[in-house]
Amino acid sequence: FQRLRQGLSRSSKELSSNIAGVFTKRKLDEDTLQDLEDVLIRADLGMETAIRITDSLASGRYGKDVSESEVRAIMAQEVEKVLGPVALPLELDLSHKPHVILVVGVNGTGKTTTIGKLAAKLVSGGLSVTLAAGDTFRAAAIEQLKIWGERTGSPVVASKLGADAAGLAYDAFEKAKEAGSDVLIIDTAGRLQNRTELMAELEKIVRVLGKLDPEAPHTVLQTVDATTGQNALNQVEIFRNVAGVNGLVMTKLDGTARGGILVAIAAKHKLPVYFIGVGEQVDDLEPFSASDFAKAIAG
Ligand code: GDP
Repeated sequence: FQRLRQGLSRSSKELSSNIAGVFTKRKLDEDTLQDLEDVLIRADLGMETAIRITDSLASGRYGKDVSESEVRAIMAQEVEKVLGPVALPLELDLSHKPHVILVVGVNGTGKTTTIGKLAAKLVSGGLSVTLAAGDTFRAAAIEQLKIWGERTGSPVVASKLGADAAGLAYDAFEKAKEAGSDVLIIDTAGRLQNRTELMAELEKIVRVLGKLDPEAPHTVLQTVDATTGQNALNQVEIFRNVAGVNGLVMTKLDGTARGGILVAIAAKHKLPVYFIGVGEQVDDLEPFSASDFAKAIAG
């Protein structure tokens, strides 16, 4: 919790000082509520949650003096209500052997790093993992994944730069089956610049995996970079439609002033948030806790 609090300190400090600005010796009236709503929207929390918070605050307190700490407490309470239903643990169905996790997201959002951290977590929990270097467009991504493979003692299935990603995914699935791996984690490219091509590639990966197991991929995880702000909402929309995303990892929550976007994404998309990334190191992937996040962002 301390790490999360520290990571979100820029988000919460900015929010607190703006809230303090609204509530200097002012009664709770239409103007203060409007100003507060603006502050919450500027903090990326989203319109829906901003209204929830101001409505909750106004009920019973309209026309009265309210303290900043009271506002923060209500904010934490309402944020937790939004996040509670999406704070779910990642469950693996090991009867599939392997349970296939397809990791998607825009380049630079932290796919490869998250895969490495996740593999380390699973391996230390006693599971065997195979990694597939499906971002066949970037040599660096393939190399990075190989390093994570070495670190975690997980085999990495890779091919030459520019190879067909779906072919590689199929190959990796077969190899993971042969090796008896519990989990297969597949990296993918995230070139949003060429959306049609990306869409075709991801659809093809999903289709070929389904040939070996009609339920695969069992988890489609999207990494979302918290520092992106509002744009993150569209990114989730796109990958949800293209790849059938059914879970999220919010990365780079350390040091961002835009952590509120997680709340807006939860309110809009209602997808499970399995983990949060709070740094670049192997241990910097934490299960997502609604109450910790709510407390950390409310300051
Ligand atoms: P990909 O292109 O989606 O595979 O993204 P990468 O895994 O290569 O990550 C892009 C950059 O973000 C790298 O420099 C990572 O070290 C960094 N990164 C990933 N996750 C986090 C995080 O949670 N916090 C911070 N501060 N950096 C991260």
